[in-house]
Amino acid sequence: MKYADTRASLDHYDDLPEPDERGEIRGLPENASPVHSLPMPLDPDARLRVSGRGIIFLDSWQYQRAACDRLIKVVLPMTFNDADPDSCEGCRVETGKWAIDAQAWWARRNRRDETRQRRKQEAEESAVQRALEERRQAGDPD
Ligand SMILES: [Zn+2]
Repeated sequence: MKYADTRASLDHYDDLPEPDERGEIRGLPENASPVHSLPMPLDPDARLRVSGRGIIFLDSWQYQRAACDRLIKVVLPMTFNDADPDSCEGCRVETGKWAIDAQAWWARRNRRDETRQRRKQEAEESAVQRALEERRQAGDPD
């Protein structure tokens, strides 16, 4: 089925040998599989960026995340279709959940992101602590 309010999307593109007529140096990849699902972002700026016409190549600071969490670099001008044999398996599962309750799905993703962020920060802090500890011990004049 096709999911309204999503876009089919890709995690990679090909570099063109030379810029096309619009000066674009990125092209659709020869192997466009897997096709990911990009649920329309809640952020209005991001939403605007990915809802334009035609094929949209995102710059690195604009990369979006697919339903399966992969980084999206190319947004295609059609909705995600889980009947497409090239569709990403993770996206099929996650888009199904998103379609049932988008609000709950975003809340779950945000919670997961926060937990991941916190763990990362804790790991960084303890690495700094360890480094300081080692310095102190190395510097002990005894
Ligand atoms: Zn995917």
